Parts: sequence; structure tokens; C-alpha cells
Amino acid sequence: MHGERAVVLGGGMAGLLAARVLSDAYTEVVVVDRDQLTGTAGARNGVPHGRHAHCLVARGQQIYEQLLPGLTQGLSDDGVTLGDFNGQIQWYFNGHKLAASDSGLICVSSGRPILEQHVRQRVQATPNVRFIERHDIVGLATTPDRQRVTGARIQRQEQGSQVEELPADLVIDITGRGSRMPAWLTELGYPAPREDRIKVDLAYTTRHFRFKTNPFTHDIAINQAGTPVAPRGVFCYLLPDGETVELSLTGVLGDHAPTDSEGFADYVKSLPLPLHWEFVRDAEPLDDPVRFKFPASVWRHYEELDRFPEGLLVMGDAVCSFNPVYAQGMTVAGMEALTLRSLLKAPEPLNPFQFFGEISGQIAGPWQFSAIADLGYAGVEGERSDEVNLVNMYVPSVLFAATMDPVVTDAFLRVAGLVEDPMSLMHPDIAVRVGRAMQMRRTLMAAQAAQAAQAAPAAQAATAGD
Ligand SMILES: Cc1cc2nc3c(=O)[nH]c(=O)nc-3n(C[C@H](O)[C@H](O)[C@H](O)COP(=O)(O)OP(=O)(O)OC[C@H]3O[C@@H](n4cnc5c(N)ncnc54)[C@H](O)[C@@H]3O)c2cc1C
Repeated sequence: MHGERAVVLGGGMAGLLAARVLSDAYTEVVVVDRDQLTGTAGARNGVPHGRHAHCLVARGQQIYEQLLPGLTQGLSDDGVTLGDFNGQIQWYFNGHKLAASDSGLICVSSGRPILEQHVRQRVQATPNVRFIERHDIVGLATTPDRQRVTGARIQRQEQGSQVEELPADLVIDITGRGSRMPAWLTELGYPAPREDRIKVDLAYTTRHFRFKTNPFTHDIAINQAGTPVAPRGVFCYLLPDGETVELSLTGVLGDHAPTDSEGFADYVKSLPLPLHWEFVRDAEPLDDPVRFKFPASVWRHYEELDRFPEGLLVMGDAVCSFNPVYAQGMTVAGMEALTLRSLLKAPEPLNPFQFFGEISGQIAGPWQFSAIADLGYAGVEGERSDEVNLVNMYVPSVLFAATMDPVVTDAFLRVAGLVEDPMSLMHPDIAVRVGRAMQMRRTLMAAQAAQAAQAAPAAQAATAGD
């Protein structure tokens, strides 16, 4: 055992996974959150993004199952639609459907609250995990020399309640992207981490519908992904009741879908392909559209700090909050939980520098994948190295090749599913297929141009003869 008590600040997805892992190494684990967690089935105020499309990608499904055996079956038994990440999701990019094939990778695409509820119920069933709910986390407690964190300062959400100290051998801040840790560190006399920010000015606007005609046959989701060529996007899947569809519109650089019915419908109509409009036109809206704004992706570089208190860690979105359209956050939280578990297996005390170093290695790949893609939008500020420009020239070709070659689709979605490194798309086997598809496209476009050139004089002659 590493100690008597570990305190997890924030009972979101990353906090729950951390609690699961800590329960093997501490006599007691206490999860503190401002919301009522136990017994909550729907979206909650502390996680406003939970009202919007969430997909647990392939690598995440594998990790969650590893940490919480039986989770996937439990979700399926509860009506959650699980399916092949490629074969059972219709993916559209720039108005073209990616070629489907069975990847053998499972994806959970059925709304955030039910996924969180299942994860929470399993963590709650761990005998040495306890929840302190409806409490605000207000700060840290430390030794007088501020070298070690000795607990958290929390306050019950009741008028007149006092701040209490919750002693702990380890405190982990997992309070999400609004984490106050940089300010707390400064107050304690430590440096705050440097931040990388990529301003995308993104918004999700989500509405639920009951369909007249089921748009999903054997598929679990129908998604048009936003790209620099066609920036408006949509994620759309069925909720476990089997008749409610969650539909989230995404728009970047301030081009946000409106929250009134007419504006929402117009935005759906403006998507590259009409398939979502054809569904929405006939479906019954079940609520008003709601919006979540995401100004920027943020990575706080704790791994660069040379001073940090003992007995303290930071994880999840509090360290790195990725552009959500790439669906990486919950999976990276899982990777970080595995790192925590492996460090806790060693008899030595937890070393925060080692932890931050290891998770920064895990964050780097997904961060680059999404940051480079975001820099493909001319309006996104940021330095565009030769590598960024090269990748952003190559990826559209990969996406085009993926519309005709399922092997390329599979390679692309294995990267998007965080199962493979982005560099795998540069593998000669894939690059050759991409080159072949682009050659076919050039040949086709040349033939079309020649045909048009031939048809033009004939049309002119016909017009002159009129
Ligand atoms: C619109 C949107 C869509 C997304 N879609 C996906 C997706 O498809 N796939 C994916 O993998 N990821 C997605 N993500 C990211 C994903 O939600 C997060 O990465 C993941 O949930 C991990 O978050 P977290 O647990 O670190 O923080 P959070 O989910 O923000 O949880 C933080 C917790 O801390 C509590 N808390 C915060 N401050 C306090 C306080 N002061 N006192 C008490 N309690 C406090 C909150 O109540 C909450 O429970 C999306 C994010 C957004 C914004």
C-alpha cells in the first residue's frame, strides 16, 4: 500500500478511472465532486459538455474494459449501441463516404451520461472507494513549508457551511479544463505550467429527435466530419432507448450552429450532404438545441516544471483538453490511468515528475494529430512548420483514398481510434495506396476535362444554329 488515503478532486470520467486504479494502492479513496453523482443517470451541471456527442474510440474501449472488466457487456445489456469503429459507423469527409470494412475495433457511441453512469457504478462498487458529493473543492492543504500537500479544502454546498480539510497522503486534481491548479501553485510559491493553446473557437450545438424512419440500419452512428474544405460537421447516433437520436452540430472559428429551431435546421441543411437534413426534416424534436463553446485546446506542461509539491498530481482535462471533435479526451484519460497504475505497482513513493513525464509522452501523439489538423484551417492561429504543412497536404489525399480503399480507411481510423501512431499513415504500404488513388483521381479528372472540352464546341454550334 502507498498510503492511507488518496483524494480524487473531480468525479468525471478521468477522476473515476483514477479512483479505480488508486483503490489497489490506498486503504481508502475519496472522490469529491460538486455534483450529486451517485444515482444520477442524465447530464449534470458539473459536466455541461456531457449533453453533447461523445464517442469512446477503440483504444479507449480496450483500456476501460481492462480497468473495469465486464463494462462493455454491461453497456450492451443496457441498450448502449456498440459497434465496429469502421464497419458500423458511416463516416463522411468533404461530402464523400469512407469505404467501410470491419476493423475489429469496438467503439461506444451512445451519449456521455450513460457511459459515465456505468463507469461510476463499477467504481462505486469498489469497497474502499467513497464519494463526497455536493461539495466545492476550494483549495489545497499543505505542510507549513509548503513542500507537501496534506489534503484538500472542501466546502459543502449548504448555506453557512464551513471549509473543511480532508487529509490525504495523495491528492489528484482531476477537475477538468477549469482546474485552478496553476493559480494554487502560484499561491504556494511554485511556478505555474506553461500552456500551449490552439484557438479553434469551436461550438457544439445539440438537439434530440425521435425519428419517423430509423436512419440507422445496422450502423451505430452517421457522422459528417468537419474539415478545412467543409468545416461544418455533425455527429449523430441512437441513444439506448432505441428511438432517441442525439445530433450534435459542430462549427469552428465562430461559425456556430444557432440554438433556435429554424437556425438549427438551416445549419443541418447546409452540411455537405443532405442525409442528416432528410432525417431531421421528418423527425420530432424532443428538446431545444443547447450549445457548448470550446474556445481553445489547452495543454498545460506540468512535465516541464522543476519544482512541484509532494503528494500531488494532476490528470485528465486539467492537464490537456483536446479539441473534442477528435474524440480523444476520455481515451487519453484511460492511458493516464494505466500510467498511474504502473507507477503505483512500484514500491517507491510516487514521483510527480516521472508521472508528468510519462503522461506527456502519451498526450503528445493525440495532441499533434489534432493540433496539426486544426492548423489546416487557415483561420486558426499558430506556427505552421514544414511538418505541419506536409501533413496537411497529405491528409486530404489519405481521406480521398479512404473513400475507395478500405485498407486506407482502416489505417486512418486506427490512428483516429488512438490504436496506432499517426506516423503509421506514412508507412510505404499506405503511402503507395494513397498515391494510387490520387493517380486514379487525376486520370478521372483529366478524362472529365477532355470530355467537357469536346462537348463545348458542339454546344456552341448548337446554340449558333438556333
Ligand atoms: C463538447 C465535448 C465533446 C466531447 N466529446 C468527446 C468524445 O467524443 N470522446 C472523448 O474521448 N472525449 C470527448 N470529450 C472530452 C471528454 O469529455 C473529457 O476529456 C473527459 O471527460 C475527461 O474529463 P475530466 O474527467 O478530466 O474532466 P471533466 O469531465 O470536466 O470532469 C471534471 C469533474 O470535476 C468536477 N469539478 C470541477 N471543478 C470542481 C470544483 N471546484 N469543485 C467540485 N467539483 C468540481 C466536475 O463536476 C466534474 O465532475 C469532449 C469534450 C467536450 C467539451
